[in-house]
Amino acid sequence: MPIAELNEIVYIAGEKKILDGFSLSIESGEIHALLGTNGTGKSTLAYLIIGCEGYRPTSGEIIFDGRVINELPIHERAKLGITMAWQEPVRFEGISVRDYLTIRNKDIDPAYYLEMVGLHPEFYLHRMVDKSLSGGERKRIELASILALNPKLAILDEPDSGIDMLSTQDIINVINAFKENGSSVLLITHREEIALIADRASQICGGKVVFSGSPHEVAEYYKSREC
Ligand code: ADP
Ligand code: MG
Repeated sequence: MPIAELNEIVYIAGEKKILDGFSLSIESGEIHALLGTNGTGKSTLAYLIIGCEGYRPTSGEIIFDGRVINELPIHERAKLGITMAWQEPVRFEGISVRDYLTIRNKDIDPAYYLEMVGLHPEFYLHRMVDKSLSGGERKRIELASILALNPKLAILDEPDSGIDMLSTQDIINVINAFKENGSSVLLITHREEIALIADRASQICGGKVVFSGSPHEVAEYYKSREC
């Protein structure tokens, strides 16, 4: 059974139709890559799925775990197990990495999650989450915090973007950690080599899915056409 289904999502912001009949189904436990160039509506889709303020489909349905969640607020969706790593990692100044990782669940072992994202627990647990961390370090800490939530669906919006890019191998490691957890992942990217990590892939163009298939098929399609 799919964990999430997007049926004919249309999203109009002001005069602009950003999503134009977007349909996608994400199977339980699947890593699904959404591949598309800049400005094709990938982040907007992510905001609609997690339910950011002001992001509700103009038409179409967002179904999660068999239930239509179009109007559910973001915190209710979080309770259902939907979470997201933002394209720009968030800064939580003034708290330690340990506190950041255990803020929602005191019972987890934060060191375990730091190791999963390639950070040395002894060095990082007591550091503060602030400007002294590089973009790549903050990104890893954010990914560790999302792993620790054990989400049913994790949306990773361009996990390799930012000042200190994570390497493809780093992202493979993180994806494997989500797989071990049993989480489904929507892996958003504009780079076909990242999409190749997934179990299945879809290409978005002009606010809708234009092609779905194996990551290899979709990567070839993406390379051979505009958009
Ligand atoms: P991607 O993540 O694929 O790069 P986005 O979802 O960020 O694309 O943006 C898709 C398109 O919608 C872009 O042309 C962007 O400028 C536009 N857009 C995004 N948000 C809004 C908004 N709130 N109002 C109007 N246009 C927007
Ligand atoms: Mg984006």
